[in-house]
Amino acid sequence: MMNKWEGIVIRSIPYGESNSIVTLYTKEAGKVTAMARGAKKPRSKLVAVTQLFTYGSYLIRKGRGMGTLEQGEQINSMRFIREDLEAMAYTSYIVEIVDRLTEENERRQGVYTLLYEALNAINEQYDPEAISLFVEWKMLTVGGIHPILHECAHCHATEGEFAFSFRAIGFICHRCFHTDKYSVRITPNQLKLIRTFATVPISSVGDLTLKKETKMFLKKIVRTIYDEQLGVYFKTRAFLDQLETSPNLLPIKKAPKE
Ligand SMILES: [Zn+2]
Repeated sequence: MMNKWEGIVIRSIPYGESNSIVTLYTKEAGKVTAMARGAKKPRSKLVAVTQLFTYGSYLIRKGRGMGTLEQGEQINSMRFIREDLEAMAYTSYIVEIVDRLTEENERRQGVYTLLYEALNAINEQYDPEAISLFVEWKMLTVGGIHPILHECAHCHATEGEFAFSFRAIGFICHRCFHTDKYSVRITPNQLKLIRTFATVPISSVGDLTLKKETKMFLKKIVRTIYDEQLGVYFKTRAFLDQLETSPNLLPIKKAPKE
């Protein structure tokens, strides 16, 4: 059966001398892996459309087992992502999260929209580090983790001072700090940001310029949840960590305001 699907290349690995096995996250069918025959031959029409991060429209023949990618038409090559080291590093991490937390042939509209909006925003040169925070927080629910962010996880209060509790996987209020002595205190602004990352679509936020320390702090919280609750090891994180400890690898960008 031939299908025409719109999607983004989240993985592309060489297979044999001239083929590639391509994993797409599609709008219509979720995650789909297909064999792209001849995609590594320089003159193949499939070369461009099987590049990592490419957004396009694809013709995929599905039978039993792995499908075959017959044709593709590029809609957006995500050129900036490909040319910018930091953008590429964060996008690699984003597609790895999506790949690792989703199953083949399982359609989740929310995941497609998130991935699509994240890549487009990074390609339009929004801060990739902030965009990855949206993806990290939102993909938790796809991994089966539902942090309690709208009230105190313990007494359901919505007023007061708050901390993040890894034990409750959510906010706890000052009246309940005693329930988790390892909870991390957060400011009202940090609380608001976590809610934004977890619940507001990237497309409705606009430009979000955050201080480096704020991003590091919120990233540490969400990554601790991944490590403790899901135990998934993301191999692209190693390169991100390296980038962060060697900022001289990156070009100087405009100073953040918050
Ligand atoms: Zn409470």
